[in-house]
Amino acid sequence: MTDVLDIAIIGGGPAGLAAALYGARGRATTVVFESSMPGGQIITTDWIENYPGMPEGLNGSRIGELMHAHAEKFGAQFRTFAKVESIRAQDGGFVLTCDDGEEYRARTTILATGAIPVRLGIPGEAEYTGRGVSWCATCDGALFRGKEVAVLGGGDAAVEEALFLTRFAERVHLIHRRDELRAAKCIQERCFANDKVEMHWSRLPVEIIGHEGRVTGVRLQSTKDEAEEVLPVQGVFEFIGVHPVSELVSGLADLAPGGWVKVDGSCMTSAPGLFAAGDVTDTPLKQVVTAAGQGATAAFEAMRFVDTGVCTL
Ligand SMILES: Cc1cc2nc3c(=O)[nH]c(=O)nc-3n(C[C@H](O)[C@H](O)[C@H](O)COP(=O)(O)OP(=O)(O)OC[C@H]3O[C@@H](n4cnc5c(N)ncnc54)[C@H](O)[C@@H]3O)c2cc1C
Repeated sequence: MTDVLDIAIIGGGPAGLAAALYGARGRATTVVFESSMPGGQIITTDWIENYPGMPEGLNGSRIGELMHAHAEKFGAQFRTFAKVESIRAQDGGFVLTCDDGEEYRARTTILATGAIPVRLGIPGEAEYTGRGVSWCATCDGALFRGKEVAVLGGGDAAVEEALFLTRFAERVHLIHRRDELRAAKCIQERCFANDKVEMHWSRLPVEIIGHEGRVTGVRLQSTKDEAEEVLPVQGVFEFIGVHPVSELVSGLADLAPGGWVKVDGSCMTSAPGLFAAGDVTDTPLKQVVTAAGQGATAAFEAMRFVDTGVCTL
């Protein structure tokens, strides 16, 4: 058991890193627990062009590195490759247990565990994961040089990643269950202007097909008349949404339908002293700018909470 921390932050994505910066600058003892490397989901995307103040955009991993370095510069401490396995309320504060068995006591905790991609759960998906089925164009796109790939989804991430994949793939088939995209209009315009992208409207993927351990196609069903067709592709990239990583607090704090953590205007959950920020919360816009904003708010409010002296740890 270590000394009592003012703020324990679970998750080192944009929300956790912004919280760490604000906590450490406020001279609160601030530790970030990250099960992998700091950066979060942005590590999996090539280019972020909608973070204010960066008109040319910046590589996702680079933004993660900069946010990490910025928080560390002001004194935030990091436990990387340390997964928090459980959290319990005790003496007005919290005890966190990591996967190496180490326990940490904290006066306040900020849950910034983010979200992970939704999987379709269709036949062939599990079998061909890593053999043509992917959730990360930045990681796997170069493997499909000169090939044909399918991208599933119609939001910002799907369309942006489809455009990224045109750098490698001969043809990118964008498959969407509706007859219009949800992505921001400026991204749609770029997509429609790119002759490597072929749209497949009102289609549901129902099976991923393969041969000798590799993807060879995806079976699509029309949402209009249920007619089926097999689209021959060598890769399938899924961007159909995310779901929250909130199991750690399911017994501690109120969750909204879908498992999103409910927070108030100060980013506090229903459990006093337990805050949440970023994609794990029930706020509708899931972006770097909102995650960072909530992280800053959560750290600011956590410091105010410590000052009230409610916690006896
Ligand atoms: C392909 C793609 C493209 C995107 N493009 C854009 C874009 O262009 N612009 C934009 O603004 N946003 C974009 N986003 C969304 C953006 O990445 C997210 O909104 C943002 O990363 C959310 O930050 P977060 O800190 O809340 O969560 P995350 O980034 O999900 O980070 C959560 C972190 O918590 C860690 N963690 C989880 N559980 C534990 C645990 N038990 N113990 C320790 N650590 C844990 C995870 O390892 C992870 O590092 C994109 C997302 C994707 C997937």
